[in-house]
Amino acid sequence: TKGHDHVQDSYDYDLIVIGGGSGGLAASKEAAKYGKKVLVLDYVTPTPQGTRWGLGGTCVNVGCIPKKLMHQAALLGQALQDSRKFGWQFEEKVKHSWETMTEAVQNYIGSLNWGYRVSLREKKVTYENAFGEFVGPHTIKATNNKGKEKFYTAEKFLIATGERPRYLGVPGDKEYCISSDDLFSLPYCPGKTLVVGASYVALECAGFLAGLGLDVTVMVRSILLRGFDQEMANKIGEHMEEHGVKFIKEFVPTKVERIEEGTPGKLKVIAQSTDGREIIEGEYNTVLLAVGRDACTRTIGLDKVGVKINERSGKIPVSDEEQTNVPYIYAIGDVLEGKLELTPVAIQAGRLLARRLYAGATLKCDYVNVPTTVFTPLEYGACGFSEETALEKFGEENIEVYHSYFWPLEWTVPSRDNNKCYAKIICNIQDNERVIGFHVLGPNAGEVTQGFSAAIKCGLTKAQLDNTIGIHPVCAEIFTTLSVTKRSG
Ligand SMILES: Cc1cc2nc3c(=O)[nH]c(=O)nc-3n(C[C@H](O)[C@H](O)[C@H](O)COP(=O)(O)OP(=O)(O)OC[C@H]3O[C@@H](n4cnc5c(N)ncnc54)[C@H](O)[C@@H]3O)c2cc1C
Repeated sequence: TKGHDHVQDSYDYDLIVIGGGSGGLAASKEAAKYGKKVLVLDYVTPTPQGTRWGLGGTCVNVGCIPKKLMHQAALLGQALQDSRKFGWQFEEKVKHSWETMTEAVQNYIGSLNWGYRVSLREKKVTYENAFGEFVGPHTIKATNNKGKEKFYTAEKFLIATGERPRYLGVPGDKEYCISSDDLFSLPYCPGKTLVVGASYVALECAGFLAGLGLDVTVMVRSILLRGFDQEMANKIGEHMEEHGVKFIKEFVPTKVERIEEGTPGKLKVIAQSTDGREIIEGEYNTVLLAVGRDACTRTIGLDKVGVKINERSGKIPVSDEEQTNVPYIYAIGDVLEGKLELTPVAIQAGRLLARRLYAGATLKCDYVNVPTTVFTPLEYGACGFSEETALEKFGEENIEVYHSYFWPLEWTVPSRDNNKCYAKIICNIQDNERVIGFHVLGPNAGEVTQGFSAAIKCGLTKAQLDNTIGIHPVCAEIFTTLSVTKRSG
């Protein structure tokens, strides 16, 4: 099939993409670029609280975008405090308006939703706001919000349905708690908030809510930021605690009750210690659940076409070319088993897949050394191995860890957080001290990490880092002068 006019007679489309999020939109636009006839189905099942949103998926509507903007709102509050030390004088009492912030963030998201629609139209991708599910080989049913059903066929399919927040499965969770899917468009200030969970979503939300001046408690079952370098994770937790976020560790909620109506109302949370010995109670205006996310794969008819999922996690295993066990069905993004759940990863995988399918390309998505940043009040950027994984994989004797605390110049005058920012690299001694792990805690950690990740892709060694001249005075220069090893004590 070469172009719009050459779709195999028997099929309506060359490609049907289920899910118009980061990955699905990237793949569909790229496929259309090569003259393919493409249909994208995107449908948002409302949250238990009734929240819904427009085209673009998690990142734009209820993920990266609103959370980074709200993180920025919190950072500005800190900057206001610092500014007095730098000579700014202002009289009024400083207050924050949740409504103003949320409206501004939602307006920006609205402009992105609109932009996505326009760009699909320009690229001649057909878009339908309908829920897609397989009903038979090469055949999908699309149901819109009025319940109207349509059936389409395609030569190939791409599953890019992403994930949605998990609930606890305890009385009151769906009735009274919110998730990140509700938070960013909440029409009222959440007030005193309990955040349940220790994922990056949990800590980021807790961080910016506290930064906006709210009373925030985080309830954690076991460790913070599972999968991330634990030394860094614990430093993030300590920093949050020192800045007013309360932690209740080794407890899980067992019941949530409403004790007062309102916006926000008042909720009672009953929780049990993980050893089962202790029961506690607390009152909060809002309970935000951030206890993980589940892949949207169980209601899309995968059994009708024989696509295998990991029965426990719901995730879809694919080949290194993002092909499922059913050759004409592919999958990308957050639904994939064993891959990173990040927007740029979904986009890259989607684009490269379309090029391989329709433009004769061979390049596969490289899931190694993908950089990432956690936007907690003290930001954390990382690329490559965590210290524990490196030790496990290469052995203690083969790993050299260089580290240092640093104090951003901008923080000296307002005397903020001396010895809290931290830089660490992990090198493989057997391989010319190649940098296999990069970790930074400090302002603009994402901006810092992005550049170093390019160097790591190029095979950066410790000697090359030492041979790099720093930029003074910036935080990132610390990486050009690291000399203290952990081994040295
Ligand atoms: C709070 C939060 C913060 C985040 N912050 C970051 C960040 O800072 N940086 C980063 O890189 N990543 C971040 N992420 C992760 C990022 O949002 C995801 O990795 C990314 O959106 C995955 O893209 P995707 O295409 O796989 O799925 P999604 O973007 O989730 O898109 C899937 C789309 O498919 C739709 N859909 C599902 N089922 C169907 C169906 N049957 N029919 C039709 N449509 C369907 C969904 O409604 C959705 O619109 C964050 C996530 C969250 C929750």
